[in-house]
Amino acid sequence: MSPDGGSRSAADGGSPSTADGGSLSTVAAAPGGRPARLSLEQLVAGVSSGDRGILSRSITLAESRLAPDQDLAQQLLVALSDRTGGAIRLGLTGVPGAGKSTTIEALGLWLLERGHRVAVLVIDPSSARSGGSILGDKTRMPRLSVAENAYIRPSPSAGVLGGVAWRTREAMLLCEAAGFDVVIVESVGIGQSESELAEIVDTLCLLLVPAGGDELQGIKRGVVELADLIAVNKADGELLLAAKRAAGDYRHALRMLPESTPGWTTPVLTYSARKGTGLPELWETVLAHRDLLESSGQLQQRRARQQRRWLERLLEETVLRRLRARPGFEEALAGAWQSVREGHLTVPQAVGTILEAAGEDPQAETPRPAA
Ligand code: GDP
Repeated sequence: MSPDGGSRSAADGGSPSTADGGSLSTVAAAPGGRPARLSLEQLVAGVSSGDRGILSRSITLAESRLAPDQDLAQQLLVALSDRTGGAIRLGLTGVPGAGKSTTIEALGLWLLERGHRVAVLVIDPSSARSGGSILGDKTRMPRLSVAENAYIRPSPSAGVLGGVAWRTREAMLLCEAAGFDVVIVESVGIGQSESELAEIVDTLCLLLVPAGGDELQGIKRGVVELADLIAVNKADGELLLAAKRAAGDYRHALRMLPESTPGWTTPVLTYSARKGTGLPELWETVLAHRDLLESSGQLQQRRARQQRRWLERLLEETVLRRLRARPGFEEALAGAWQSVREGHLTVPQAVGTILEAAGEDPQAETPRPAA
């Protein structure tokens, strides 16, 4: 563990962007002000020993758009693969104000007291690395962000290759390799990020609040279907009864939905992040879900399915990016779009025109009549 790791865990996460063109595989400034580049061996040793400074830089490498950084990050992930996969991977989502940060702070500290090492990764597709998220995480989780055995990493910026959630998956693997046995991934974005969250964690927990009225608070049905656990926060004080009532309503509503995990009925719990009541039960439920995944063989299946989707998405993104980089592509796109707007081309015709301009056979995947 790096001696300076504790209070810098969140700040380290905000390592410099690649905007200046500098390689991010470099760490501490060498004499003369030139940053020294860490070798693969040094990175492997640093992450394996739980050095948070090196962990942060490794995650930054994985997020980098520069090819040499990416190569090194991928080699690092391969080298560390034996050390990954062991953590409880818990996803936490909920509308702003549901109490996500209060919950992570309370649950995280509770887990630290029980000897766990807790990493918190944030997914926010709207975030920019230069934004306020670093300070934000420190104020959102003030005690956890300076705790000895915790590590908080802000969201990668929206421009990272392969999507924010998928890069967060790599950060999760690196945290596992660094000895964190609980990885909490929080999605603060609204919309697509919740389903992306389900693509990287084993257990997805949806936080709700005891607001009356709207069934499931306007949260998309798809997200509710993905939830392995629903936790109604703020079950304290005058909200206690409302929380219990809301939990009953949600339980009822859930009966109409398919199971998130075969053989598992999504539990609806009430708890108070502020008072800490119900947190042990929440954690017990996370462990019960994990046990079921493990004993039924679904854990490996789920993770394999996630990786397969990542492979396909990254492939799609890479192919499209390469196509777009071909000479004439952007002009053809602009011209075809203009024609669509003026009613001269249909959208499928426009796609054909653009592909042709980029040197592709626009008919390539259309089945041809047998000769
Ligand atoms: P986030 O936006 O989901 O991260 O929500 P926060 O954790 O920032 O919480 C939003 C508000 O709800 C804050 O004012 C919290 O103090 C409050 N809050 C969070 N947890 C609880 C709780 O268990 N009980 C009560 N009464 N309020 C809470």
